[in-house]
Amino acid sequence: MKEKTMNIHEYQAKELLRKQGIPVPVGYEAATAEEAKEAAVRLRTKTGGPIVVVKAQIHAGGRGKGGGVKVTKTAQETEQAIDKILGMQLVTHQTGPEGKKVRRLLIEQGVDIAKELYLAVILDRQLGRSVVIASTEGGVEIEEVAEKHPEKILREVIDPATGLRPYQARMIAFGLGIPFGTELFSEAVKVIMALAKAHQTMDCSITEINPLVITKSNQMMALDAKLNLDDNAMFRHKDYDVLRDPNEEEPGETEAKKFDLSYIKLDGNIGCMVNGAGLAMGTLDIIHYYGGMPANFLDVGGGATTEKVTAAFKIICSDPAVSGIFVNIFGGIMKCDVIAQGIIAAVKEVGLQVPLVVRLEGTNVELGRKILSQSGLQVIPALDMADGAKKIVTLAKQ
Ligand code: GDP
Ligand code: MG
Repeated sequence: MKEKTMNIHEYQAKELLRKQGIPVPVGYEAATAEEAKEAAVRLRTKTGGPIVVVKAQIHAGGRGKGGGVKVTKTAQETEQAIDKILGMQLVTHQTGPEGKKVRRLLIEQGVDIAKELYLAVILDRQLGRSVVIASTEGGVEIEEVAEKHPEKILREVIDPATGLRPYQARMIAFGLGIPFGTELFSEAVKVIMALAKAHQTMDCSITEINPLVITKSNQMMALDAKLNLDDNAMFRHKDYDVLRDPNEEEPGETEAKKFDLSYIKLDGNIGCMVNGAGLAMGTLDIIHYYGGMPANFLDVGGGATTEKVTAAFKIICSDPAVSGIFVNIFGGIMKCDVIAQGIIAAVKEVGLQVPLVVRLEGTNVELGRKILSQSGLQVIPALDMADGAKKIVTLAKQ
């Protein structure tokens, strides 16, 4: 199950971290090649250093390996990298084989790296607490380190009542091999404390710096940053709205937000329209149980209107991966006839290219079934959840 989070770009994450007192390289964001080239000139004038890093801004990691990060030494090299990366279809292990189109760049000051570290704050669901994770093996996938060298992962659990305590930050700095008593050590403790605080005050679900580097001039710097913001805390952060990049979001998820529907795209081919989060989870499970793969999680909510149901149905139909739809509704506050009318309204607008199995139960169920059966639509009724799941799994395969 994917969690509801809002992703932002690296350049935005760095700006937020900089405000929290974490050192980041000087850099400029650019959406066109002219802007990017102009930014590179400005950067070289400002920093005096010849090295400029051209970085693709997409909502996915692993850009370095995929060719989306280039360290350049001359103006000519920088311009070549800009022309190459901007507009490319960048494929990384997180984008899927189709990749993601690069529409933005970060033009950044190059840094001489002495050591690459890993530092993050994440939620440990088993403990129900945020945890600081750190490792001397930065720059690479942390999952890989966890698998091959679990002993190289440092962890400190944050007590929500006190926040991360300075001794815990010192334990981590020590574990990272930074010599105790040096200026670098105090710097590391500051960065670790600041990251934990940032994680909490900004309501993040992931706050990751990989790599956090020690430069050759012995300074700490966040060379990469990934922040996931908890969707459920958005009401506290009205200022986050401008950070959204609709190009990077699932179009269905953006549309769903407008109608206040809980929609999450998944990898399968069976579109699901359900009311109530519990029933939605149960529906995903039963589809799996009968050998199918759900295309989405969609909870239309308790008191949905015909407009909401129509919007939900249209979102499901607009996903090209969907080859069958399963409507599974228990009418409580939500009445079955409203659902039936919503389905009919949506089909009138967008048509129905795939099999549709409907299981209705509860308030006004007879009326709902009657509306559907008299509509002339090709609706396949289901007796119960299991019957519906079996039917849609078979039909969606054909
Ligand atoms: P990711 O691959 O999407 O995680 O992108 P990163 O921002 O982490 O960049 C990948 C790698 O590029 C880093 O781990 C560094 O090794 C390298 N890199 C990024 N910025 C610089 C820089 O300023 N100087 C040098 N020498 N290497 C850099
Ligand atoms: Mg990285």
